[in-house]
Amino acid sequence: MRIDLHTHSTVSDGTDSPAEVMEAARAAGLDAVALTDHDTTAGWQDAAQAAARAGIGLVRGTEFSTRCQGRSVHLLSYLHDPLDPGLLAETSKVRDSRAVRARIMVERLGQDFPITWDDVEAQAGPEATIGRPHIADALVAAGIVGDRTAAFADLLSPRGPYYERHYAPLTVDLIQLVRQAGGFAVFAHPGAASRGRIVDDAAIEEMADAGLGGLEVRHRDNSPEQQERLKGLASRLGLVVTGSSDYHGTGKPNRLGENLTDVETLDAIVACATATPLL
Ligand code: AMP
Ligand code: FE
Ligand code: FE
Ligand code: ZN
Repeated sequence: MRIDLHTHSTVSDGTDSPAEVMEAARAAGLDAVALTDHDTTAGWQDAAQAAARAGIGLVRGTEFSTRCQGRSVHLLSYLHDPLDPGLLAETSKVRDSRAVRARIMVERLGQDFPITWDDVEAQAGPEATIGRPHIADALVAAGIVGDRTAAFADLLSPRGPYYERHYAPLTVDLIQLVRQAGGFAVFAHPGAASRGRIVDDAAIEEMADAGLGGLEVRHRDNSPEQQERLKGLASRLGLVVTGSSDYHGTGKPNRLGENLTDVETLDAIVACATATPLL
């Protein structure tokens, strides 16, 4: 079984529609794939229909923006109730804050470069909340930078003059909400040093106490050393280990199926999730 538990579509910052992600997953020889757009479940319905047509298993998921030790932490949740009031309240707070923050960043960039809010909106799907990837795409379209990666390295960097933060709940609080919503929580790319400083073992222990279920160990942003550290931590804390691509279409070099999750692990996730996420 080939299972990839982390992908993005046009409802967040991927470049394929939810249906196209399912078709691409089938073409990549996957048996099951999770759609995990940032802070939304808007793609689930289209993905479910396309997955049925393609004859591939869909794992419904979301990648939540959270904060821990002053750092940005991405938390994957699988199979939670998409209508859970607690989760919906937090995601709408995050999305509102993201919208304000994106306008601030574009305004700052517009003072030094020929880029407008309309240019940025033109890069995002109708349901997407504007994030740095869309600003990056607008910078690329305007010929200001070569690609998304270059934009992130320079103009969109948290260390640069154009960056603005957005609201994100504490990771442990969101883990508890995910559990209450019947979902299974996995810390996404916990050793991704390229995204800023990583959180320490003590913080991951606290997450485990709060109900974290797994660590996304096999991910291209976790170095081999980090993957060893995380494997040890997972076994000490009784967490499952997942592997995923974090596919974003043409928005990132990550290819579908480049990292995989064992079927036993997916079975454990499904067994632990208590919600029946029917739409
Ligand atoms: P934001 O949440 O708006 O601050 O933007 C962060 C998002 O941008 C992440 O979820 C990634 O999907 C994407 N991202 C982060 N770093 C890069 C990069 N170097 N190249 C392309 N996309 C990136
Ligand atoms: Fe992303
Ligand atoms: Fe992420
Ligand atoms: Zn992701």
